[in-house]
Amino acid sequence: MFVKAGIHPEFKITKVTCACGETFETGSVKENLRVEICSKCHPFFTGKQKFVDTGGRVERFKKKYNM
Ligand SMILES: [Zn+2]
Repeated sequence: MFVKAGIHPEFKITKVTCACGETFETGSVKENLRVEICSKCHPFFTGKQKFVDTGGRVERFKKKYNM
């Protein structure tokens, strides 16, 4: 996924904002990103669920990132 700097001119560090309020930076070709769950609030990383998953958001997140 990640390539060496300079190879891909559109690849840059972008700010990602999560629905929980957490922000972090990651490499992306997009200017700004918004996510519903991140490593701070995702039960996969935290081991506990901070929100009620009524819409299957976690499952879709796992599917999207092959988790
Ligand atoms: Zn979050």
